[in-house]
Amino acid sequence: MKDGYYGRFGGAYVPEILYATVENLRQTYLPIIESAEFQKEYHALLRDYVGRPSPLYLAKRMSERYGCKLYLKREDLNHTGAHKINNAIGQVLLARQMGKRRIIAETGAGQHGVATATVCALMDMPCRVYMGATDVARQHVNVERMRMLGAEVYPVESGNKTLKDATNEAIRDWCCHPSDTFYVIGSTVGPHPYPDLVARLQSVISSEIKEQLVEHEGRDYPDVLMACVGGGSNAAGTIYHYINDQRVRIFLGEAGGHGIDSGETAATIHCGTLGIIHGARTLVMQTEDGQITEPYSISAGLDYPGIGPLHAHLAETGRATVMAINDDEALKAAFELTRLEGIIPALESAHALAMLPKMEFKKDDVVVLTVSGRGDKDLGTYLRNADKA
Ligand SMILES: *Cc1c(COP(=O)(O)O)cnc(C)c1O
Repeated sequence: MKDGYYGRFGGAYVPEILYATVENLRQTYLPIIESAEFQKEYHALLRDYVGRPSPLYLAKRMSERYGCKLYLKREDLNHTGAHKINNAIGQVLLARQMGKRRIIAETGAGQHGVATATVCALMDMPCRVYMGATDVARQHVNVERMRMLGAEVYPVESGNKTLKDATNEAIRDWCCHPSDTFYVIGSTVGPHPYPDLVARLQSVISSEIKEQLVEHEGRDYPDVLMACVGGGSNAAGTIYHYINDQRVRIFLGEAGGHGIDSGETAATIHCGTLGIIHGARTLVMQTEDGQITEPYSISAGLDYPGIGPLHAHLAETGRATVMAINDDEALKAAFELTRLEGIIPALESAHALAMLPKMEFKKDDVVVLTVSGRGDKDLGTYLRNADKA
């Protein structure tokens, strides 16, 4: 990254009124998060509250099926059930250090909202979560969790009443309260420095992979890394310390929905064009005249109409191979992991697993695949689709 850009992607395209706030964040985030005091508190919470390090588990039966040594990085075992808590803790600590007294966030499926509400309960900070009214209705359990945690869930009635509209509303709130409010963004998206901040906070995933591989394999790098991408935060965390290590091949699975030619897809890297979304220049799912189109995926956590600028760049330069995984392929992969290893993955994570049958491995290839979250939240979808197993 240079000056907030990854190749031609990134930057900070924010309204004039937010310029000073974003600039202040840009100047303060690195000194704060690299300070000994921050690192100590952050890592103590990751250990004692989240339950890190998350295990690196050699999945024997899956390894046999795919002809490699497949390790699963178990982010599903974190408190609140996914990797998002790593980032939420870091950003709320940063907000406190910066003297901000109020937290806002936006959420689609509710996972980032729950992680943020959780940390705000822990740190006694007021929290408002913007959520499209459509999502409030269809993600009811997460809404109840956020309310129980003490957050105010604010249903957004504009547009399609989904994530994009919630994001617009959160930015509007931020514009009105730039001095006392910190906007916690849930993925490697948004204006610079957010993509870099979130990647750094999730990079604990690849730090642990390095140490754990030494224990298991006697070397600190795998041959292949695999992760799913919505905005890109679990993938960024997985690859962070290996991006410049050419011995490591990187595979990312994005949500194909009903197929990249179906018009019902969230495969932004395959189908997106250059545009501006959420304050960054990146690939965007949009019409010819620049209207953002509503993405579709069976997995609520992957249907974001943009993509992190880092990931757009890795795909464009060929550093990462990106596959579009359709709903039925993800469902099949989720049932397979459940039956072979006794692990019910999140539907998002199943998009990483579903790349396995499309790949060719050598028998002794060391493959690390991040299971970004657990599947409890997706049980209804799994039961409705049990015939696809
Ligand atoms: C939110 C979410 C994702 C997608 O977000 P990224 O920023 O791309 O990681 C993936 N898996 C789970 C379990 C999630 O909750």
